[in-house]
Amino acid sequence: MKIIFSLVFVYIFTIAAGFSQGAGTGKGGNNLQTKELPRIAIAGLAIESSTFSPALTHEEAFHAKTGDDIFTLYPFLSPDSLNRKRAKWIPTLRGHALPGGVVTREAYESLVTKTLDLLKEKGPFDGLFFDIHGAMSVVGLDDPEGDFIVRIREVVGKKTIISTSMDLHGNVSWRLAKNTDLITCYRMAPHEDALESKKRAVDNLLSRIESGKGKPAYKAWIPVPILLPGEKTSTRTEPGKSLYAMVAPASNQKGIVDAAIWVGYAWADEPRNHAVVMVTGDDKDKVTSTAENLAESFWEVRSEFKFIAPTASLSESLDQAIASNKHPFIISDMGDNPTAGGAGDVTWTLKEILARPEFKSENGPSLIYASIPGPEFVKKAMEAGVGGKVEAYAGAAIDARFAPPILLSGTVEAIEHGDLHAETEVVVKIGSVSVIVTKKRKPYHREIDFSRLGLNPRETDVVVVKIGYLVPELYDMRADWIMALTPGGVDQDLERLNFERIKRPMFPFDKDMEDPDLKARFVPLSDDL
Ligand SMILES: [Zn+2]
Repeated sequence: MKIIFSLVFVYIFTIAAGFSQGAGTGKGGNNLQTKELPRIAIAGLAIESSTFSPALTHEEAFHAKTGDDIFTLYPFLSPDSLNRKRAKWIPTLRGHALPGGVVTREAYESLVTKTLDLLKEKGPFDGLFFDIHGAMSVVGLDDPEGDFIVRIREVVGKKTIISTSMDLHGNVSWRLAKNTDLITCYRMAPHEDALESKKRAVDNLLSRIESGKGKPAYKAWIPVPILLPGEKTSTRTEPGKSLYAMVAPASNQKGIVDAAIWVGYAWADEPRNHAVVMVTGDDKDKVTSTAENLAESFWEVRSEFKFIAPTASLSESLDQAIASNKHPFIISDMGDNPTAGGAGDVTWTLKEILARPEFKSENGPSLIYASIPGPEFVKKAMEAGVGGKVEAYAGAAIDARFAPPILLSGTVEAIEHGDLHAETEVVVKIGSVSVIVTKKRKPYHREIDFSRLGLNPRETDVVVVKIGYLVPELYDMRADWIMALTPGGVDQDLERLNFERIKRPMFPFDKDMEDPDLKARFVPLSDDL
């Protein structure tokens, strides 16, 4: 009886709220309508993929979550959070892969189709939280995020308000800008504000729906012809620090919903790869002047971006680290940084380290190398067991352009299973070097990544990590730090890479280029598609 009563009540309530006519437009109205919670979908795929790496990324790498599992990604949508109660949330599919090589067309189509099927099944929607990175490359497809949002629009229609959250290393094409209504990105690199930014995208979406204001009336988009690596544009140092400090105050003005600056992604060769400024809001003059001011400010400081730590060749970096009395001396092995899109299995750096006489004996300076994937090596190490001797090849299964697979011969010091990315991790001691070999590729960013393997990086002389700028835990741990300009799919010396399809002129490639047109372009609202 109770059930029947509830069903009848829901039916009446739905009719009264006009819901049978499709998703509300958030225009407010009578009391019944304001009581109806908006229906908001969640969807998105996140990856940075380098077109300069021979690696390919497959569907499993995205570890796609569907349904309520997706809430675990967003603490600000936890069951008891205020935001969770402000809407009827409909999580569809969210995938997040470590940076890597280009995504296969099959993986992309499969993940997109699954998302679209869920959206078709669960619609209609008042809003959609589109949580992407913005630097996905897919085999044979330009601007995948632009393609994805167009296909989402075809399913959800024009009325649904889409709020996009991005990494500041993502790219904003005109097509992406046109199909989204709200858009924002991180304001810090390293991305300590990632969750805060995603929450801002959700807060803006909720408040535009609840207030009945709907889509912002103006979206200004300004392409800035600058392409710089993330290692030069940290917001911890100038000029990135002051430039990004302008963003929050710009956003907080009356008549502005959000302001954002994208540095863009430097290791993909497509016309969309460049910096962008976007400002959304209802006050046309404010939107225009704010966007133009941010774009001009970025252009003005373009020549001041420098690597955020000293850089040197690997051999100079090792010389310095060995001679130094500051430990741990961290060396970033930048060219193959898997968290920027390197294959992560380039053996060149490890080969150079093991060839150095200083590390040949057990009494040499201690060095941790993190890390090299080698499934065959891991298998042999498991057969040998902890304390056993092992000799097998590792690395260069994907990126063998700079050095072939490397023969590692030493004593197994640790074997750990169960890591989400690595699956199995082995530490092998060779002379005074502890090499971490993984079944699958994994970034080593946290102290616990080392300590769970019985390693103590704080008490180690030299720690070499496949990384660019140091993430906070490593940054806080370092006694000294140098970034080695090593080869790989994310070579930091962009001018060594072979760009063919990016727009020209582009800073820093065309040093004498004229000042570009940095006037605001108004992107059509998604209603006018
Ligand atoms: Zn980023």
